[in-house]
Amino acid sequence: MDKKVTGILSCDNISGISGNMEMLLHKIQTEKPEAYALIYGKTRTDCICGNVLFYPLWGGTLVAAEIAGLPVKEDTCGGSFLGFHIHEGSICGGTAEDPFADAGGHFNPGKCGHPFHVGDLPPLMENHGYALSVFYTDRFIPEEVVGHTVIIHVMADDFRTQPSGDSGMKIACGEIKEY
Ligand SMILES: [Zn+2]
Repeated sequence: MDKKVTGILSCDNISGISGNMEMLLHKIQTEKPEAYALIYGKTRTDCICGNVLFYPLWGGTLVAAEIAGLPVKEDTCGGSFLGFHIHEGSICGGTAEDPFADAGGHFNPGKCGHPFHVGDLPPLMENHGYALSVFYTDRFIPEEVVGHTVIIHVMADDFRTQPSGDSGMKIACGEIKEY
């Protein structure tokens, strides 16, 4: 399937700052997302909460995530990176050992390897417990991920280890719903 994204930004006619980013930020400010997930989780010391919003854009999705209460790792020089994925399960339930076990594995309708799963997202960058991330993906449109879950892991995704990047425990979860 050829779904090359064209016409977004051409390097031929750039003489200054592209208007694209202003348009995208305006979109987030003024338009309703097509889908959203309310994120929640609990570590030993913190309650994690936040929103992930999904806007249709250019045959794919503009994702905007804001998360607070992420664990702060005191032994690092700065903030850490946390694995961030869409998982195939529909529910944020689980067991005492794995509170979000029901989220299952990474959303992977194409039966690809990690990190080429449809649900593989850029890691969250944690800043004293807070993360803000806005990015574009053409691996899915918002309606394709409704009914699945967003998961935040305790460690960074190494983008190599199968099947899920060795990013450790699931510390927060959100069920993706139509807005
Ligand atoms: Zn994956």
